[in-house]
Amino acid sequence: MNKNTFEAIGRALREYDRFAILSHVRPDGDALGSTLALTLSLKELGKDVRAWNEEGMLEKYGFLAGAELLTLPPNAPEEFDVAIALDTATQNRLGKATEAVRQARLWINIDHHPSNPGYGDLVYVDPIAPATGQILFELITTEKLPMTPAVAENLYAAISTDTGSFQYPNTTARTFEIAADLIRAGVNVGRLSQLLYESYPKRRVELLRLLLGTMQFGCDNKLAWFSLSQEMAKSVGALPEDNEGLIDHLRAIRGVVVAIFFEELADGKVRVSMRSKNEAVDVCAICQSFGGGGHTLAAGARVRGALNEVSQKIVEKACDVTRRNT
Ligand code: AMP
Ligand code: MN
Ligand code: MN
Repeated sequence: MNKNTFEAIGRALREYDRFAILSHVRPDGDALGSTLALTLSLKELGKDVRAWNEEGMLEKYGFLAGAELLTLPPNAPEEFDVAIALDTATQNRLGKATEAVRQARLWINIDHHPSNPGYGDLVYVDPIAPATGQILFELITTEKLPMTPAVAENLYAAISTDTGSFQYPNTTARTFEIAADLIRAGVNVGRLSQLLYESYPKRRVELLRLLLGTMQFGCDNKLAWFSLSQEMAKSVGALPEDNEGLIDHLRAIRGVVVAIFFEELADGKVRVSMRSKNEAVDVCAICQSFGGGGHTLAAGARVRGALNEVSQKIVEKACDVTRRNT
């Protein structure tokens, strides 16, 4: 899927002047950390860079170096030489930010989702990489782009969050070598980990309490799921970003192969989040059959319908696939 080389991408980064860097809707640590890392590195090179996400900078990642650089996209389009999509499986997952960069002459797509179809003019998709941040580390070091402590911190945050703190099976020796290099480049692991994993707002845990009240098991306890209605979220004042990672509590249960989180959205759709603990159960394939995508062990979809209808339909399908493959 790597249609282009770091060299070709590096050349474009040096040659052009005006860049927009985008990432997927409902951003995670990899999307935001990768965006900030590349933004800071290009700014260090003297480039004119805009960093946009449909949700702007999430409060919970507001401590990241350069966080103030990442904003909501403007209403009117601006002119760019290059638009760069990071960590985004399909172009439509860039959301409203796409419109603001529609005049860009060149599109670069850097990602690690196997479901990425390879949109754009320069494409680097490595489905083996555990995080887009890891690909960016390789790009920045291979192409000798600036690596400051601020760039390193954002790359470390991207890799740490997307590997579940270096736990998921796609974490390799190379990932740890990169982490070591990032520490040498200035990352303070204790400080950063505390900000990432031990600074949750109280409402997040209150949300977890409500979610656990809806927890269900099926398929001989190989499936576990819980659901979040808009009313529940409202009752604890939860922001959309508060539920990132809560699904891990289901995955952590012995015997559970597939964990599913259903979230009622305001637009009549349900956001489905799925995790698998067994390579034989490909949750990306399940989510793709509902119009979504992702990775073998972590995927998602947005499905039209009421919370209970959607959850029933999805649980049935997930149970079917789990039964056939385990
Ligand atoms: P999440 O469950 O939202 O953390 O997402 C898990 C993985 O699936 C991430 O890598 C997402 O990029 C991907 N993903 C989530 N939702 C979708 C979707 N609607 N379409 C394509 N990929 C998705
Ligand atoms: Mn992501
Ligand atoms: Mn990612």
